[in-house]
Amino acid sequence: MTPSTTAGSAPAPAPGAARTAGAPDAASNAAPAPPLASRAASVGSSPVREILALTERPEVISFAGGLPAPELFDAEGIRAAYDQVLTEEPRRALQYSTTEGDPALRAAVAARLGARGLPTSPDDLLVTTGSQQGLTLLATALLEPGDTVLVEDPTYLAALQCFGFAGARVVPVRSDENGLDPAALADAVVRERPKLLYTVPTFQNPTGRTLPAARRQAVAAVAARHGLWIAEDDPYGELRYEGERVPHLASLEAAADRTVLLGSFSKVMAPGLRLGWLRAPAALRRACVVAKQSFDLHCSTVDQAATARYLADADLDAHLERLCVAYRLRRDALLDGLPAALPEGSEWNRPEGGMFVWARLPAGHDATELLRAAVARDVAYVPGAPFFAGPPDPGALRLSFTTHTPEEIAEGLRRLAGVFEAR
Ligand code: PMP
Repeated sequence: MTPSTTAGSAPAPAPGAARTAGAPDAASNAAPAPPLASRAASVGSSPVREILALTERPEVISFAGGLPAPELFDAEGIRAAYDQVLTEEPRRALQYSTTEGDPALRAAVAARLGARGLPTSPDDLLVTTGSQQGLTLLATALLEPGDTVLVEDPTYLAALQCFGFAGARVVPVRSDENGLDPAALADAVVRERPKLLYTVPTFQNPTGRTLPAARRQAVAAVAARHGLWIAEDDPYGELRYEGERVPHLASLEAAADRTVLLGSFSKVMAPGLRLGWLRAPAALRRACVVAKQSFDLHCSTVDQAATARYLADADLDAHLERLCVAYRLRRDALLDGLPAALPEGSEWNRPEGGMFVWARLPAGHDATELLRAAVARDVAYVPGAPFFAGPPDPGALRLSFTTHTPEEIAEGLRRLAGVFEAR
């Protein structure tokens, strides 16, 4: 995928697009099948994706993926939850169910949010196929082709893709080491007349940045003053290793009636469950429910029931605590090794949680060009360039620290140092 500031305006369909849509050969005299929709034709594979495909070799130490550590999944607890629902209530667990989602699951999520300063009723929630579906539902319910969406710069790639499919015009807002710049947001709102601001305010993907509380107030005030929806995407907020929790945008009075909070079980339990949730004001939530009905009727009944059972019987907070202890050590191993690994003049941040460190190589270094040499040395990262909706920073890269032990991280960084020494 190649994100751009006008992610929705598709280039002309690729030559041969009609043929790939299934036309028989010309000799049969049959008319070709019509081409793909322009939005589908505009989504191609990126060269970075092809290089990263090489990192699946087991010898590669990869800082590229955004995956949770598989050895830390509570497989035993999740197995017990599935066993119980399939033993005790198989007829319900295997049946069709409501679009809004399992009542016990929604009640458990509502209770967790309430305990974190965001009073929530189960009826405020819609269970989604990961927070990724929450984004798609929101785009379907809110965006007309040509509508403008403001994003942090850089931002989450698959959100750019989602808004691109909706035909939206994506406009980046200046962001710094503390995330969105509220003054730049206010300017952009007046200039661009956007409908939606998409933000990952806590431990952002790709930068690991967290928007401070005062900036959250300022963002909420801008949204209220100018009539703007906010999508607050929060898959990483529970992975905090130090520092104080910052209130959700959705909990701020100014923005409470216009903020959609997207949450996920992917990073706290397991992404293979494909379960997340959306908390939205009533009218928008109802539109999302209707959209979801047309997409997939509802999330898997048995997966929801097992997850609800897990939340009732297991101790998710204790599990989270174990995750945070392990991830903190991995983050520290990465931060400790970076000074010796990256060339002099490089900069990086020190996120208090999440999965990512964002680094910038000094002028003259191109992270995309260097990736091939890194992969040849069995180490990988993601170049930062594709995450920018505006002009990319060629020296930027994202390093994920979750899937390797501290020892492997140290070895990966030694390999990375070799890439720069060999230049
Ligand atoms: N939003 C952000 C910012 C993400 O980083 C991700 C996953 N990497 C998602 C949404 C989607 O996650 P899921 O669908 O698994 O909940």
